[in-house]
Amino acid sequence: MNPTVAPITRPYGRFFLPGPVEVHPDVLEAQTRPMMGHRGADAQAFMRPIHENLQRVFRTERPVFVSTSSATGLMEAAVRNAGRTRLLSLVNGAFSKRFADIARACHFEVDEIAVPWGEAHDPDVLRARLGESAYDAVTMVHSETSTGVLNDIAGLAAVVHEFDDTLVLVDSVTGFGAAELLPDDWGLDFVLTGSQKAFALPPGLSFGVASERMMERAAEAPNRGYYFDLEFFATNHAKDQATTTPALSVLYALEVQLERMLDEGMEARWARHATLAARTWAWVGEMRGSGVDLSVMAPEGRRSPAVTAVILPDGVSGSDVTKAVIERDWLVGGGYGKLKETTIRVGHMGDHTLEGLEGLLSVLGEVLSEEVLS
Ligand SMILES: *Cc1c(COP(=O)(O)O)cnc(C)c1O
Repeated sequence: MNPTVAPITRPYGRFFLPGPVEVHPDVLEAQTRPMMGHRGADAQAFMRPIHENLQRVFRTERPVFVSTSSATGLMEAAVRNAGRTRLLSLVNGAFSKRFADIARACHFEVDEIAVPWGEAHDPDVLRARLGESAYDAVTMVHSETSTGVLNDIAGLAAVVHEFDDTLVLVDSVTGFGAAELLPDDWGLDFVLTGSQKAFALPPGLSFGVASERMMERAAEAPNRGYYFDLEFFATNHAKDQATTTPALSVLYALEVQLERMLDEGMEARWARHATLAARTWAWVGEMRGSGVDLSVMAPEGRRSPAVTAVILPDGVSGSDVTKAVIERDWLVGGGYGKLKETTIRVGHMGDHTLEGLEGLLSVLGEVLSEEVLS
């Protein structure tokens, strides 16, 4: 081996990107296990407890499908299996916009309710739109990773349920594992997440939960394709099998991470994320008090427990800040897309601790004070 880039020697717990996220050493280690065949009795015996534990962490009686794709793959699965002709997309940032763009790329007619980046969606506005026009499904993002806004998924889903035959499709990529999410109780027809966000696994897998209504719709969906056909997932899941060759190494990591999540408990996990997020918002206030004019982009009450987008003082460049943090051997996320220079994002999701977060915030505080003074 002759690597051209030096191996990473950064200690565990300093990596605060909003995806991929820091992965616990025990979980990383699981990936070094040798390969196994992915068909047959041994593979089924391996997958069965994973499938059961997935239902526990997702709080669902429905099967949890495992896809070897990044989360964007299951966003495509959502629209392909739910769509007949027309979809409505709730857009309030880059990932919710992506959901609409995917649906258009799959040849659906797509309308958007778009609010400015940094705002959340209002269930009353959704009700008014659904009263005017019929849609096969509504797409929405739980935790909008570009802005740190948390949408009221339970409230929005309840509104969709006032209208027959319209399905609720939820991207909970940075929501799942960080914020409460109850697919069955909230009547979500499809929820998807990825492995490398609040799940705190390496990238390579995504997970989806489909309601019975969603499966009935999928059975007739003309445009569901092959790789992301939910019936293909359901028939294989019933046999505790993967659809196609799975990312086995990430499955090994998943087996270990599910045990770790269940040991902590989902309520405790949500509470830890709430604590980390609240500490980040309080720090923003402290920095303002010391003359560094920061603010949290998302409005109070609609802030994601997984990620905070912090608006920087005028004249301070986001890429200068993230670079200066890297020089100190820590990592923080840059702003997304059009917010690249005006914001940074703290990904306080996954397995981070308050102690680790304090370390990051003190480094960030130093860097920002220097940037503002210079
Ligand atoms: C990261 C992210 C995605 C895309 O996930 P990939 O795994 O990169 O495909 C989609 N939606 C949200 C909200 C995300 O944070």
